[in-house]
Amino acid sequence: MAVKKMIKYEVERDSEFAQWVTGVIGGERIRNCIHCGNCSASCPLARYMDFTPRRLMHMAREGFKRDVLGSFTIWLCTSCYSCTVDCPRKIQVTDIMYALKRRAIEDRAFPKRFPIPVLAGEFAAMIRRKGRVTESWLVVRVFLKTSILRLLGMSKLGTKLFFSGRMELIPASIRDRKQLQTLLDTVEAHKEVAA
Ligand code: SF4
Ligand code: SF4
Repeated sequence: MAVKKMIKYEVERDSEFAQWVTGVIGGERIRNCIHCGNCSASCPLARYMDFTPRRLMHMAREGFKRDVLGSFTIWLCTSCYSCTVDCPRKIQVTDIMYALKRRAIEDRAFPKRFPIPVLAGEFAAMIRRKGRVTESWLVVRVFLKTSILRLLGMSKLGTKLFFSGRMELIPASIRDRKQLQTLLDTVEAHKEVAA
């Protein structure tokens, strides 16, 4: 993927988002960034990203919400923490990436049909519904939402897995789902109060 080069305009800035970024875990120091580029230089995935970590941090702190949440960069980040270790201003780049991923899922602002955020969202939804993850159903749900053609292309493999007994058809579930949901609702409510 080529690194995007583009001119940004003041009118595209979202000051509320810029403020939000400084409030996420690790984002407190984002305004101290000196654009040295150490994070981009140490990032093993930078060459595949649409915005390098340095650019993404800059765009996030300036409030270019649409570009940041819609970027591939946050999903290509493998959380290796190399950027965080090398940052001379002790900016927690990796933790900011995590926060941006969560926000992109909440706002459904991630690149359409890109499998990684869809997988993350479906994984969380399955845990909420069942308390367990059934890989076969997870894969089907992700491909239904990203690429039906790829799902069809995997039918041969699916059949093989099914006949070798390695594909569960009945979704696994914990016994007391209600208790789990109450727990998750409490965490959500606590998060909202804390925000
Ligand atoms: S290494 Fe730190 S200070 Fe340098 S550009 Fe990256 S975030 Fe900014
Ligand atoms: S944590 Fe993410 S952004 Fe930072 S160096 Fe690793 S892959 Fe790159």
